[in-house]
Amino acid sequence: MDESKIAVALVSLGCPKNEVDAETMLGYLEAAGCRIVEDIEAAEVVIVNTCAFIQPAVEEAIEALLDIAALKEEGTIKGIVCSGCLTQRYGKQLLDELPEVNVFLNPGAIERVAEAVRLAAEGRRGIISAPLTYLQTADAPRWRAGSEWLAYLKIAEGCNNRCTFCTVPSLRGRYRSRPADDIRREFDRLAGEGVKEICLVAQDTTRYGTDLSPATDLAALLRLLDDSDFDGWVRLLYLHPDSITEELIQTIAQSSSVIPYFDIPLQHVVPRILKRMGRRGGAEQYAALLASIRRAVPRAALRTTFIVGFPGETEADFEALLAFVEEARFDRLSAFSYWPEEGTAAARLPQRVPGEVANERLEALMQLQEQVSLEINRSYVGARLQVLIERQERDYNVSIGRSFRDAPEIDGEVKVEGMHPVGQFVSAVVTQAEVHDLQAKIIRH
Ligand code: SF4
Repeated sequence: MDESKIAVALVSLGCPKNEVDAETMLGYLEAAGCRIVEDIEAAEVVIVNTCAFIQPAVEEAIEALLDIAALKEEGTIKGIVCSGCLTQRYGKQLLDELPEVNVFLNPGAIERVAEAVRLAAEGRRGIISAPLTYLQTADAPRWRAGSEWLAYLKIAEGCNNRCTFCTVPSLRGRYRSRPADDIRREFDRLAGEGVKEICLVAQDTTRYGTDLSPATDLAALLRLLDDSDFDGWVRLLYLHPDSITEELIQTIAQSSSVIPYFDIPLQHVVPRILKRMGRRGGAEQYAALLASIRRAVPRAALRTTFIVGFPGETEADFEALLAFVEEARFDRLSAFSYWPEEGTAAARLPQRVPGEVANERLEALMQLQEQVSLEINRSYVGARLQVLIERQERDYNVSIGRSFRDAPEIDGEVKVEGMHPVGQFVSAVVTQAEVHDLQAKIIRH
């Protein structure tokens, strides 16, 4: 069968990095002549681009595949392709366990997506797999599926860290950076398409360039991107605390396009727990890091992520975490109770914390953070913020957007009084604070 006649829909699950892969696969499909359709029921083949780094994501992926399988059963669609991390994690096992799915495509074999679709449309079954060396390039076709004002730009793939709780290195391979000039070409293209916010992503963004020859770093890449006509926001996601240098902080402080948003997943602050997590550092080093960021960029928005109930975490360790959070005053904080993920080193660690204790700790941590968030948000009342408008709620006469403090999907929103154009920046004055969100209005002088 010629893939040029096949109608394909794609469902992408998981993080922005997966979204970039999804858009790249759609690009390859379009280049192969497939017809991309948004409505799943209008497709002949549906691709489910899965995430599988933790058990709930695995369950979500399987549920999504089974939902699509029902459409295949009733004859609405002809075939199903499962791409992404689920294939990488479970491989051949899936062929037996998910007979509804035709083709499994691993993350290394993204470029062969059209072949996968053709096989699925013909009702054949199999796995298409390649070593985890695939790396995005500016020349790869990309079919942008999200909002036209927002794009994720993947600057590297894989991870060389060995956090004991994490499955990502085995799912995504060793760290590999894209050449800076290749990133710049894609950046210019996105800017030229009218994108207003470009989020730079990788599993470990701050390691960027250390594997290239000659080696470079994230600060140099930011300077290269800053030296352009782009007048929107560049946002960095997933900064590993070990490799945030003073030079990087200064570069962000001086940049005209990189917004002062520091997303630094710390995971814990007690050195003994961090060591068990396969990580370095502790409260003292982290406090010093946050202080140097605030010295260089006083208005920086700080976000972090913590895991509570990691094996060996005592009540005293948790109290130390709470004390740190109270002191550090993060704008945004996400937390998870530890889950022993199959196949990870941490899952074999002794001194498990009972689930109910971990959940109580999670609740206490989030309660504390709510107070901190509200206090910080209140300090913005009266301040002027640039807001990127993303939707309008006509019934409430309000436009919803985000400020530099709000990463897409994960942080808060700014509700600006009145109807304002979607995909455009407005300058608004904050009038009220909520725990996560702000209210604002435009004051014209
Ligand atoms: S830095 Fe650690 S948590 Fe993040 S992807 Fe790498 S191994 Fe996983």
